[in-house]
Amino acid sequence: MIFLKFLLHIFIFFLLTIVTQIGGVIYLFSVFLVKKNSEKKVIKRFLYFSIIYLIATFLVVPNVSSYFGREKIKDSSVLQAHSFFYKLANRNYVKPELNTVISKIAIDFSNKNKGIKLIYLDANFPFFDKFPLLPHLSHNDGKKIDISFVYAENERLSNKKPSISGYGVYENPTAKEFNQTEFCKEKGYWQYDFPKYLTLVTINKDITFSNKANRDLVNLIVNQKEVGKIFIEPHLKNRLNLSSSKIRFHGCGAVRHDDHIHFQLK
Ligand SMILES: [Zn+2]
Repeated sequence: MIFLKFLLHIFIFFLLTIVTQIGGVIYLFSVFLVKKNSEKKVIKRFLYFSIIYLIATFLVVPNVSSYFGREKIKDSSVLQAHSFFYKLANRNYVKPELNTVISKIAIDFSNKNKGIKLIYLDANFPFFDKFPLLPHLSHNDGKKIDISFVYAENERLSNKKPSISGYGVYENPTAKEFNQTEFCKEKGYWQYDFPKYLTLVTINKDITFSNKANRDLVNLIVNQKEVGKIFIEPHLKNRLNLSSSKIRFHGCGAVRHDDHIHFQLK
């Protein structure tokens, strides 16, 4: 029984560390804070954990992360996280240079498309280079960010997105377009379309992928001199008539990029 409890603590520690970076350590701390023979031990631990976690996430980490060369993404009326989860889980940290670039893209894009916001997904954790933000192995240095595509509703651009998580709803290739997913899966890369399980729930089923807005958005990103690479699926690069050498194929070992755009600093 004691061994099982120990395993459960370890499991929770790893899960919280993988999802939030700081949660695992705070969990261990809250376990040690509450005495083993204390009444309502589990509730007390949960309360301690919640209070310490919230204080750390919203008051402490944003002030400490600068020592690690990262800062919180500065949200504005035109730049926002897809959901509160990304902020609650400390997945919204970038190098100051990337913060400036994202803000600029958001402002330029909304100037051209009134009322349309730049919506970001996973960025990086606040601390330590080489600490990956799973499931994105490369988001480990403050230089990477994922953003949502732009969709239209009744032929007008909208801020709505097709999934709760922000990932996993694909703009599939047509029958005439090259199907990278089929190609990769035939080569044995089973994980290539794994994010289809990460939508949480599919929503806003009546919105459609806007070729024009996404083309403008990718071109805007490409034109930032600080940006080194952009990943989108090859069939979208062709469909949107994009030619920049910064737009690369991420390889079959990654996951498909027709549900979001990934870009990174040089
Ligand atoms: Zn990414």
